[in-house]
Amino acid sequence: MDSILRGARLPGQPHDLVDIGIAGGKIAAIAPRIDAECEIVDIGGRLVSPGFVETHIHLDKSCILDRCRAEAGDLAEAIREVSRAKAGFDAADVYERAKRTLEKCILNGTTYIRTHVEVDPGIGLRGLEGVLPLVKEYAWAVDLELCIFPQEGLLNNPGTEELMLAGLRAGGHVIGACPYTDTHPAGQVERIFDLARGLGVDIDMHLDFSLDANDPQLLHVCDCAEKHRWGGRVAVGHVTTLSAAPAAELAAAAARMREAGVALTVLPATDLYLMGRESEARAPRGVAPAHRLLQAGANCSLATNNVLNPFTPFGDCSLIRMANLYANVAHVGTRDDMIECFRMITSRAAALMNVRGYGVEVGHAADLVVLDCHTPEQAVAELAPVLAAFKRGRRTVTRRPAELHRPG
Ligand SMILES: [Zn+2]
Repeated sequence: MDSILRGARLPGQPHDLVDIGIAGGKIAAIAPRIDAECEIVDIGGRLVSPGFVETHIHLDKSCILDRCRAEAGDLAEAIREVSRAKAGFDAADVYERAKRTLEKCILNGTTYIRTHVEVDPGIGLRGLEGVLPLVKEYAWAVDLELCIFPQEGLLNNPGTEELMLAGLRAGGHVIGACPYTDTHPAGQVERIFDLARGLGVDIDMHLDFSLDANDPQLLHVCDCAEKHRWGGRVAVGHVTTLSAAPAAELAAAAARMREAGVALTVLPATDLYLMGRESEARAPRGVAPAHRLLQAGANCSLATNNVLNPFTPFGDCSLIRMANLYANVAHVGTRDDMIECFRMITSRAAALMNVRGYGVEVGHAADLVVLDCHTPEQAVAELAPVLAAFKRGRRTVTRRPAELHRPG
């Protein structure tokens, strides 16, 4: 053994403490007691979870509030302002901001990330050139996957497709989409499926920003996933229309997603901030009810999306915070649903990204996070702090628990 985490509590086993033996970057043993001549880390009965999985973030356009207006707070302003700011990005600037945001993710226990990277004739590949070096530079702490996508449209924006293909050749892993900014949204979806199949890559689309429960885009993506036999390799983000769907339609959509193998990432911070701006009162919140979709068989994750830009002028990159925010706004109250909120930033998120060998099991990579609590539901409800993280067995994060200094 290289090290032993002593006295850990695993998700789903609240009454048993175990030792986790780590060797060669992997979990070598899990047992009530392991003894070996090696480093011993005292966990003190705290929760040890697999590292958090961020399925959807935008490192390249994070931290630009100092150069953008965010006054109307709606989607049109966000697209306009970021597009304007983007014209001034160079690779060094993107690199510095992306690095700052990435380090926050790591400090909050995240060990897998899919970041969406914009390419179009305006920014060219400069955003990608800024983010790409971070994949290797931070491999000690995080597996960073790049999803190349056309924020400013594809079919309406000549030259974008060629840049996307160049971005995927240069190190992109997944192909993205943004049909809501295209003059022909359905055409963009179909083109992205053709490209993904040709390249053999997974798809992750930004899908709709509407409150029209009859919007057909999600069903169209499900049809495409079946037609192309790409089930299990397709994720969609937002799908705010689902927040407006009555229960029966929601269940039908979830069943369709399950059949077609299309998973959903809900992005609570952005959807809460951008949606319902036209309402003077009782604003609709626009957050798709992920835990109810899970009950009906679809897979979902919760993720951060934008950080400190006009799409979302908030963000500390804590997935525990996202799970808590979602639980609060989506009326989650039962213990089982609270546990599902935790799964949506761990095992369910890993499944969405097709991460192999994920979870606290012998033989898996020792990608672990230690939380100052005992159970997943407590972590979500109480925003439990991350006290340590490990990537392939090596400690990457340490945070000391807060202390009270009583008088006398
Ligand atoms: Zn996004």
